[in-house]
Amino acid sequence: AGDKPHYRRVLLKISGEALMGDREYGLDPDMVARTASEIRAVCEMGVEVCLVIGGGNIFRGISGATAGMERATADYMGMLATVINCLAMQNALERCGITTRVQSALHIHAVCEPYIRRRAIRHMEKGRVVIFAAGTGNPFFTTDTAAALRATEMGCDALLKATQVDGVYDSDPKRNKDAVRFDTLTYLDVLSKDLKVMDASAISLSRENGIPILVFSIHNHGAFRDVLCGRGLFTKIT
Ligand code: UDP
Repeated sequence: AGDKPHYRRVLLKISGEALMGDREYGLDPDMVARTASEIRAVCEMGVEVCLVIGGGNIFRGISGATAGMERATADYMGMLATVINCLAMQNALERCGITTRVQSALHIHAVCEPYIRRRAIRHMEKGRVVIFAAGTGNPFFTTDTAAALRATEMGCDALLKATQVDGVYDSDPKRNKDAVRFDTLTYLDVLSKDLKVMDASAISLSRENGIPILVFSIHNHGAFRDVLCGRGLFTKIT
């Protein structure tokens, strides 16, 4: 505990839905601004931060495929949705005084930088928050996998997953009042119990590279900072 962060460089994964607030679709500006100020609190401790943001609040490939669209095309639409969220987050962070760069796995030159690993690392060393857009750039993947991949590439000490609840439970705590929260888990626990945290490829990649995953609630004020200092409620997967 205490006020010292336990990690030097981290990747925060935010789902698109986390930025939706109480809405049915799209972005809630208050939620985006709140998340930005949570990120600022972490930057102010001197921690290097990069972000992966999902797109589920706008479009999910699987829904498009269910509606009869070709899966790959639908997935590219989903990746473009993440770009929209990344630009919104960039705007909110810069409004609270944080310098940022968006780097996209799909090249959209007029809007953001292309993903270049060494350049992204350099941005972080200079104190900029790098926001990774368009997931992995490949259909049939998710932004969870993109988060594990970028965390590995950036040499992050931890991957933080902001969710709707304060950690990983043995069943859905919103439906089952007796659901039990785990303080710690192993990667293999998550895979073998099929716990709904991140998809299996994200868990496997983190396991292979020894990156701890910290799962916490986006709704607890100051939680991002607290978790990095070992305070508050969260689940640590190692
Ligand atoms: N997507 C993709 N490849 C990736 C990352 C994302 O094809 O590497 C697509 C996929 O269709 C996915 C959508 O983008 O449904 C939005 O991402 P995701 O569902 O992971 O967002 P989240 O659930 O975190 O909001």
